[in-house]
Amino acid sequence: MSISEGIEQLKALLGKPGSRAVIIPHISVDGDAAGSCSAFSGALEKAGVKCRILTCDYIPDYLRWLPRLSQAISFQDKAGYCKRLLREADMICMLDHNTMKREGDLEPWVRESKAVKVVIDHHPDPEAVDVVISNIRVSSTCELLYSVITEIWGREFLTPDMANALYTGINTDTGGLSHNSSHPETYRVIAELLESGLDKETVHRYIYETNKLSRLRLIGNILLNKLTVHPDYPVAVLPVTLGELESYNYQEGDLEGVVNIPLSVANIYVSVQVTQRKERIKLSFRSKGAIPVNEWARVHFNGGGHLNAAGGQCEGVTLEEVVQRVFDTTPWFFSTYVSV
Ligand code: 5GP
Ligand code: MN
Repeated sequence: MSISEGIEQLKALLGKPGSRAVIIPHISVDGDAAGSCSAFSGALEKAGVKCRILTCDYIPDYLRWLPRLSQAISFQDKAGYCKRLLREADMICMLDHNTMKREGDLEPWVRESKAVKVVIDHHPDPEAVDVVISNIRVSSTCELLYSVITEIWGREFLTPDMANALYTGINTDTGGLSHNSSHPETYRVIAELLESGLDKETVHRYIYETNKLSRLRLIGNILLNKLTVHPDYPVAVLPVTLGELESYNYQEGDLEGVVNIPLSVANIYVSVQVTQRKERIKLSFRSKGAIPVNEWARVHFNGGGHLNAAGGQCEGVTLEEVVQRVFDTTPWFFSTYVSV
């Protein structure tokens, strides 16, 4: 399905009066997922579609200021209500993820729902749901969503709230416009968002200046005491235990961006954060240049993602075992995917 076909189909769905939509971001909500949910729910409401945002976990503090996100409903708090909304919905919009597998505990209820399912996303190989609007060449789902919203309703339809939300996703998914943002189109979109009332300073203040002392100390401890570099390869590994998260009063989002920090060292090309969670071990991969860490995540850690930003997870193993697996598979990864 081409992007314009997808948009036409979405437009037809929106034409039905009184329809009810549910919007879902991926698990571990990031700026792009949050920004797209905020902007799209604003657009749907403005167009007269009743809509709710459901999350399988919680929205981190640094994103809760986004319009409409403080009203999002978490499956962790209101499972029954979420199930009912999914059952009664006419349309379910999956934003910034390509498969229901990234919806945590919501997945089975989304799968079961008879609602028309719509994916709007920029990850490769989207699941074949009813309507797929996917473009892997854009910087972010928010950049894609800008085209979707303006093609359906026109540019005048955009509000300053929607502009702030869309810019949040573009800015955070590109590491502050440092990676995956070489297409002129990204800057044209930003220029148009400014014309629609984007308040860039406010967005930056919310995203980058809402640190807590406990978060700074958690990051300081990880960088000082935990960061290790592979003896033979330019790979940094950041192991984080549950005990450390608890002792620094960890809250959702506190580790956002930490995995990027080792890449600021000239001769480190890959950074892997391995975080112990209650039921599983979560991995985050980042790389510089043409090093496809999504392949490493896919082959060895049940994950996937983008060339320079990927993730995965392991269950039934210890943190030490997963860290060892990262070290042990490093030679395989470099010999298979990295030409020197
Ligand atoms: P993060 O490190 O921020 O959790 O994830 C970075 C990117 O990797 C995400 O945008 C997503 O594309 C991908 N990703 C993270 N975790 C998973 C996973 O468990 N499975 C897959 N397929 N992709 C993931
Ligand atoms: Mn994204």
